[in-house]
Parts: sequence; structure tokens; C-alpha cells
Amino acid sequence: MTQTALAEIPPLIDDAQVADPIRRFLEYILNKREAGVPVVGLYCGYAPAEMIRAIGAVPVSLCAASQRTVPAAEAVLPANLCPMIKSSFGFIRTNTCFFFAASDAVIGETTCDGKKKMFELIAHLRPTHIMDLPQLPDEAGGLDRWQESVRKLQDFLEKTFQAALSADRLEAEIRETNRKNRLMDRFFAYLACRPIPVSWHEIYDVISLEHVTNGDEFQNLIEKVSSRLDQRIASGQFFGTSSSPRVLVSGCPVGGDACKVLQMIEEAGGVIVALEACSGMKNYFIRIEEDSGDPLRAVAESTLSIPCSCMTPNGRRLDLLDKMITRFSPDVVIDVVLHACHAYNVESHKIRNHIQDRHGLPCLKIETDYSHGDIEQIRTRVEALFESLETKK
Ligand code: SF4
Ligand code: SF4
Repeated sequence: MTQTALAEIPPLIDDAQVADPIRRFLEYILNKREAGVPVVGLYCGYAPAEMIRAIGAVPVSLCAASQRTVPAAEAVLPANLCPMIKSSFGFIRTNTCFFFAASDAVIGETTCDGKKKMFELIAHLRPTHIMDLPQLPDEAGGLDRWQESVRKLQDFLEKTFQAALSADRLEAEIRETNRKNRLMDRFFAYLACRPIPVSWHEIYDVISLEHVTNGDEFQNLIEKVSSRLDQRIASGQFFGTSSSPRVLVSGCPVGGDACKVLQMIEEAGGVIVALEACSGMKNYFIRIEEDSGDPLRAVAESTLSIPCSCMTPNGRRLDLLDKMITRFSPDVVIDVVLHACHAYNVESHKIRNHIQDRHGLPCLKIETDYSHGDIEQIRTRVEALFESLETKK
């Protein structure tokens, strides 16, 4: 099977903003604001988006992945801090995160130390609610404590927006999330193909469109995307070949300037078949219990199951990786750790051992930030990894 020249592959999505997903978000949020819908800014998947939608507001992820805003942050924050925290704070300090400016409220969580202390520095700018996240998810009583945090979020949303969060609305939003996650799963099925008919840019594009569509719109999109992917497969249009190294990218969120790692993998001849992090596929594997009779608890249960390294032990991440490796058949795992993210960095040792021992796959850790200074070093390490795969064949 030979690789089709990339330029010959017709686009998967013909949305005008395919090259600029931020603009797509901007238009979406502006339209919501014009329609009088309040906006709630988020930094993490532990904030239950279903509750925000159920109160009649729109959730939006705040900007956090650009080197451009890091210098402004370093004037206040220590340089030896995770770039995601510095970038988030820098966006706010330089007043360049449109989504923060458009937010009527912000939700944070007690995930990692740097992030929760950063929230203290911005909390005076918007009504801000910090959710107390238990970090021993398997401990008896952990779910009860998190449910109490979720209930306090309900109080905050009701007070801030002077509206009641009804159980029926929440149940409807749970169904909406599950519906979209099932549709996303249909799309993810194409990532298991060898060779693969989807590029990592397109995976991110479909994910970004999920955030700005309702269930019906997303269903139409997935149907269109599936039909185009079927056409690609039928006409032999793929990214890479059957022998291109298949890469599962794991670890810290990889967005914005950190996408240089994904770019290097592609330029070194690899194909990305799965993105484990929050910025990728992790949250779409979650299903929230429907018709439980207690939708608040169902939401608490599903969010507490997110396998983030801020949890200890974080056995769910190993389980998730097992499932992803079985389903997407990677040849190698690349674990991306953002500088000074101690949780993901320490956990990386366990991840590598598990992947090597259980699956017999090599695992490369790449520690990086949002700057461009280490691009050639990343390229060299990824090329060497792919060469070592060749030698083993
Ligand atoms: S990695 Fe953890 S803290 Fe970061 S966004 Fe994901 S769930 Fe939140
Ligand atoms: S990448 Fe790590 S240090 Fe950075 S915000 Fe997420 S959990 Fe915190």
C-alpha cells in the first residue's frame, strides 16, 4: 500500500474555519452571547459541563496553550512552573483570552498545586468557584465528598445565574453527553484501521466541532465524516502506509504550541492512532448513568472516574491505556509530560513499565514546554525510536 500524497486527499470537513478552530469557537461564543446565553469558563474536565448547560449557560475551555503569553506570566509566576498554568495566567494578565473576557463565571478545581494557586490570582476578576476534588478516588467516601462539591457547584450556578438547576434538565444533558460520546466512538473506530484514513489534525478538528454543536448537529457531522472516510478507504487514501509506526500519545494535555510533538511524529514518518490525554480522547470514553434517579450523583460518579495523574492511585489510567492499546494497536507509546508537571512526570515511570511489561511496547517519555527550542531534539528522539522499531522487525 503506498501513501497517497497528502494534497490529493480531499478534506474531511469543509467548514470555513477548518484551519482556525479558535475562530470557530469565537463565533460560537459570540452568537451565544448575542442570544443572551451566559458563558462559563473552564480549565479542566472535572467541571461537569452537563450542569452548566442544564442551568442554561454555555461551557467554554479557556486559553492555556500558547508560548506567546508565557513571558507575561513569568513576571509574576515562577519560571519553573507548568507551561499550561503559565500560559493560562499570561492570557488573563495580558487580557488576550477572549473566552475569559466573555465568561460570566469561571470554574476551577483542586487538581494540581500550581493550578489551584493560580486560581487565587485570578479569582477577583470573575465570579469564580473552586471545586474541592478528592484525590483518592477509590477510597470509601470519596464519591460522597465529590458529590458534595458537585452540589456546591449547583448552589454557585443557581446563585450566580438566578436560576434553578432542575433534575430533568440535568438528566436531558446527561443523555446529550452520552449521545455525543457514542457518536464520537463511531468516529474513533476509524483510528483502528491500518493504514489509517484520518490525520491527527482531523481528530482534533472533529473534537473541536463537538464542542460547538448540539447532538443533532454532531450526528449530521459524524455521518458526513464517516461517509467521507468510507470513500477514502474504498479509494485507498490513507495517511502513511501499513508499515508506518502507529503511535499512541499519552500524558499531559497536548494542544496549541505543544502540538509540535504531534507534528514531529508525523514528520518522522509516524501516524497518530490515539490521543489519550484530556485534549484528546479520554473524556469521550466516559458514559454517565442515565435514569439513575439521582442525576447529580451520576454526574459526580462519571467525573470522578476521569483518570488524571492528580489522582492516587491512578489505576484507571492503566485500564484506559490497556483498552486503547487493544483497540488501536499502536506500535509505540509516546508519553508527553509538560515541564514541571510533577504528577504526570512521576507517573510516567509506572506507565512505561506497564506498557513494556503488559504489552511489550516501547514507551518514550518526552518532556517539553510550549517553546520551539527543543523541536530538533524531539525530532531526533522520535526518529531514533522509529528506527529502533525498524531494526526489531
Ligand atoms: S490533565 Fe487532569 S488537571 Fe489537567 S485538564 Fe486533564 S483532568 Fe484536568
Ligand atoms: S499539565 Fe500537570 S502541572 Fe500542568 S496544569 Fe495539568 S496537572 Fe497541572
